[in-house]
Amino acid sequence: MPPRIKNISNYRNSQLASAEASIDGYDTAILLNAQGKVAEGPGACVMLVRDGQLITPGVTDSILESITRASLIELARDRLGLEVVERAVDRTELYIADEVFFCGTAAEITPIVSVDRYTVGDGEQGPITTELERVFHDVVRGKDRAYAGWVTPVGAARAVPAD
Ligand SMILES: *Cc1c(COP(=O)(O)O)cnc(C)c1O
Repeated sequence: MPPRIKNISNYRNSQLASAEASIDGYDTAILLNAQGKVAEGPGACVMLVRDGQLITPGVTDSILESITRASLIELARDRLGLEVVERAVDRTELYIADEVFFCGTAAEITPIVSVDRYTVGDGEQGPITTELERVFHDVVRGKDRAYAGWVTPVGAARAVPAD
């Protein structure tokens, strides 16, 4: 199934992977593409940090072209000054990465602290993940006005009057 766009039928693939992961005792799945490289998670893209570099599978690696992924690539470069590389990622690279996380509209930024039962980094959310999450939340909550064009204010965000 072409995963490039968000289409309800694509969710079946994520459901199958999630069910298998759950049966095997994992929280969730990371899908590989036909080349055996890391693609993405069920409903989220994957990013990893190695030696200060932010790495994520490219748009030709059988991923959904995620808005969150594109936003984080821009924020990582512009706000954190990180080098971001879009390239094929091996499954075993996830084991030795310093940090791994999912990103997506629903996942926002979700740290991954173990893969195939190998502990990633020190087994906790890493510092670059935390910093990117802070920058991302400032943008999506409208606090960072430099990216105001990315967000649509909704009524629920308005402050409730005191009484
Ligand atoms: C929704 C989704 C993503 C993330 O895309 P966003 O546009 O950031 O929400 C990634 N992969 C899959 C399979 C998805 O369904």
